[in-house]
Amino acid sequence: MPRALIIGSGVAGPAVAQFLHASGWDVEIFDAQPAAQNYGGLFLNVATNGLAVLESLGLRQRLLEDGHRAPNMVMWSRTGKRLGAVPNGPAGDPARGSVIVKRDRLHEVLRDGATAAGIPLIFGARLVGIEETATSVRATFADGRVAEGDILIGCDGVGSPTRLWIDPAAPAPKYSGLVGLGGFARVEGLAPTPETQHFVFGARSFFGYLVRTDGTVYWFANITAPEPARGSMRGVSSDEWLARLRELHSDDPFPVPQILERAEGEIRAYPIYDLTHVPRWSWGRVVALGDAVHATSPSAGQGASLALEDAVTLANCLRDAPYDRAFAEYQRLRQPRAEAVVKYARAINAQKRVTKSRLGVAIRDAMMPMFLRRAANDTRNNWLYNHTIQWEDPAARRPTG
Ligand SMILES: Cc1cc2nc3c(=O)[nH]c(=O)nc-3n(C[C@H](O)[C@H](O)[C@H](O)COP(=O)(O)OP(=O)(O)OC[C@H]3O[C@@H](n4cnc5c(N)ncnc54)[C@H](O)[C@@H]3O)c2cc1C
Repeated sequence: MPRALIIGSGVAGPAVAQFLHASGWDVEIFDAQPAAQNYGGLFLNVATNGLAVLESLGLRQRLLEDGHRAPNMVMWSRTGKRLGAVPNGPAGDPARGSVIVKRDRLHEVLRDGATAAGIPLIFGARLVGIEETATSVRATFADGRVAEGDILIGCDGVGSPTRLWIDPAAPAPKYSGLVGLGGFARVEGLAPTPETQHFVFGARSFFGYLVRTDGTVYWFANITAPEPARGSMRGVSSDEWLARLRELHSDDPFPVPQILERAEGEIRAYPIYDLTHVPRWSWGRVVALGDAVHATSPSAGQGASLALEDAVTLANCLRDAPYDRAFAEYQRLRQPRAEAVVKYARAINAQKRVTKSRLGVAIRDAMMPMFLRRAANDTRNNWLYNHTIQWEDPAARRPTG
């Protein structure tokens, strides 16, 4: 039985492990975290295309049980004017719209799927070295542990050590000019927003929120800021962040200031990076997936879904061909789409950054309703969502849509 060492238990790792296991591979997942952690419990968008991959793993329904279906995204100006609505899924098909879930829910569902399949998941295993021989690949971990397999799959995120092993000259992630922050809140009297997430182009920062039926508010802000020094954000307390956010959003329309007034729990800040055009996705017996080779900023709500698409595509390729041909085919199938999504998210970031003059902001707010007028039925973004990769049928590997 061929054996795959999988580095990373975020999104791509447990997904590719389950697909490979189902086609007869012996797989093992290693993660640097000391124990199962879920990135502070923030939330993310799992798009229609990512849900389709979870369906192939039999995990979609479980994820949806605690999701906020959000097929509509409604945009507001800093003065409270409704700018328009954009589908968060295929246009005119809200039943197939995307869903917002707590990040820990997605990780838990994927991890539980792997555990139920009997796939070993080892925490506290930080990859520090990769060595290839003629017949195998050997991974060394910080605690001295060594593992050997036929291939190594790096699902180790945007800071991927695997990417650098594959190509020491690989490009580095690029800072977007935005820092993401977010959390939860409860605001008395604030009505639930079924099927909808709202976005506000605030006077000094971008804001997004939704209200679940039980009244819990999920919110985030993207503030425009120079690239922070590495690690510098860890020293900023939740109270300091909240004070800054309350000031930045004090002139924004209801319910933005009210949500920030009632924010609960820890506030964490994430400088937002992306990564595009990594020339080599594999070398010898080593290949990389997900953010490791094409991190996209959260603005497209597609990072996790692309990682899931990579997982099913790579497993399909490995089922049909020896690893070297499979790796090349996987990159050929995935790279154009992944890079198109990163580019699309960059265009959204440009709208979120508050670098425009007052006049620029006024022009944006005047033009946006015109662009958005027909957006609710605009099929131009369907390429993002209608990308379905069949798992059952290797011959049908090429995506539709
Ligand atoms: C603030 C924020 C908001 C986001 N919002 C969205 C959204 O709405 N929708 C969306 O689709 N995406 C969103 N994303 C992006 C999404 O989280 C990523 O695209 C997705 O998690 C990528 O999955 P992955 O498996 O490639 O990497 P990750 O999920 O980052 O997993 C990488 C794993 O590798 C492990 N690892 C790293 N180095 C090592 C090592 N040396 N040895 C062993 N293990 C290692 C890490 O511990 C981690 O578990 C957001 C990201 C951020 C930061």
